[in-house]
Amino acid sequence: MNEVWTLAEQHNGQLKAVSFELLSRGRALADKLKVPLVSVLIGDGVDESRLRELIERGADKVYAVQDPKLSHFVCETYAKVLGRLIDEHKPSILLAAATSSGRTLMPYTAVKAHAGLTADCTELDIEEGTGNLLQTRPAIGGNIMATIKTPDHRPQMATVRPKSSRPLARDASRTGTITKIPLDETLLDQRVQVTGYRKDAEDFVNLEEADIVIAGGRGLKKAENFGMIRKLADTLGGAVGATREAVDRGWMGYPHQIGLSGKTISPKLYVGIGISGAIQHLAGIKTSELIVSINSDPDAALHKLADFGIVGDAFQVVPAIQKRLDQRKREDQ
Ligand SMILES: Cc1cc2nc3c(=O)[nH]c(=O)nc-3n(C[C@H](O)[C@H](O)[C@H](O)COP(=O)(O)OP(=O)(O)OC[C@H]3O[C@@H](n4cnc5c(N)ncnc54)[C@H](O)[C@@H]3O)c2cc1C
Repeated sequence: MNEVWTLAEQHNGQLKAVSFELLSRGRALADKLKVPLVSVLIGDGVDESRLRELIERGADKVYAVQDPKLSHFVCETYAKVLGRLIDEHKPSILLAAATSSGRTLMPYTAVKAHAGLTADCTELDIEEGTGNLLQTRPAIGGNIMATIKTPDHRPQMATVRPKSSRPLARDASRTGTITKIPLDETLLDQRVQVTGYRKDAEDFVNLEEADIVIAGGRGLKKAENFGMIRKLADTLGGAVGATREAVDRGWMGYPHQIGLSGKTISPKLYVGIGISGAIQHLAGIKTSELIVSINSDPDAALHKLADFGIVGDAFQVVPAIQKRLDQRKREDQ
């Protein structure tokens, strides 16, 4: 049995929280298999102390391929770098986060490695006797949980939803090795050049990591009305989410979609406005710490899950909340 790998993610030299969440998943698997747990980082600008945090949060080893040419995620290049590492070390298991980059990179890498890939796993375990990875994920619209095995190919590859596990506490006494691997420039993809990012791309990143998410649904009636959601989110320092109904209508971009076929969030505060609470939407919010529902229908399913339900017209309730928050802000100044 070979190493268990988890893929770390970085942005501007900062490690993303999912890197540590994956390590807590990987740690449990590596302990069962009695093999080392490795955190693999492809990127740029992550300094020694941050790399060390990967060890302190569960990794036995870190393989870091860092170079200014890797500072932006380019799927083809990252897949070639990761593929080279896989060829050299032949890990048994490779886990990545089901983020936009993880969801793009892993299928690409799996094809190149002739390996299987199970996306969006909620549970991972090791099968007794065989040591195979048991990959459990919702199937058939979330109605059943399917457990998938990949007995014949290695690595066994899976993506895991962000916020579906907690990082291990930092333990400064943990020891491990950090191996810095220089970039082989022949692996750079010549066809793709990153020229810049759209400003609103930042929102996409924020949603899964945000402590506060204000989400809107079909009850908002039209795209322009998302303006009041964005204003509320800005006031509270939060991010904007949406239901599939709102996304399908083009009121919000897909990266804002929360739910079974969107993102899983686990903020401290989730406010759902004009959202009925369909099971597929609830799948993405149920680990939120505090859930508030604003809906004119007293029987809305989201009210039942919510810690606080406000039965009322969103177009009266939201401006009233906004007014109160603005007033409070003025008083605090
Ligand atoms: C395979 C599959 C995957 C899916 N994945 C997702 C997913 O990832 N995310 C997701 O969200 N959905 C997903 N769906 C769709 C899901 O089933 C629902 O259709 C969707 O979540 C409903 O969105 P909604 O709550 O915005 O709209 P609706 O269900 O139409 O609810 C609108 C709500 O607004 C309320 N309302 C109306 N006017 C007002 C007002 N003035 N003030 C306050 N409230 C008002 C209404 O009472 C109603 O409860 C999926 C479906 C399938 C089959």
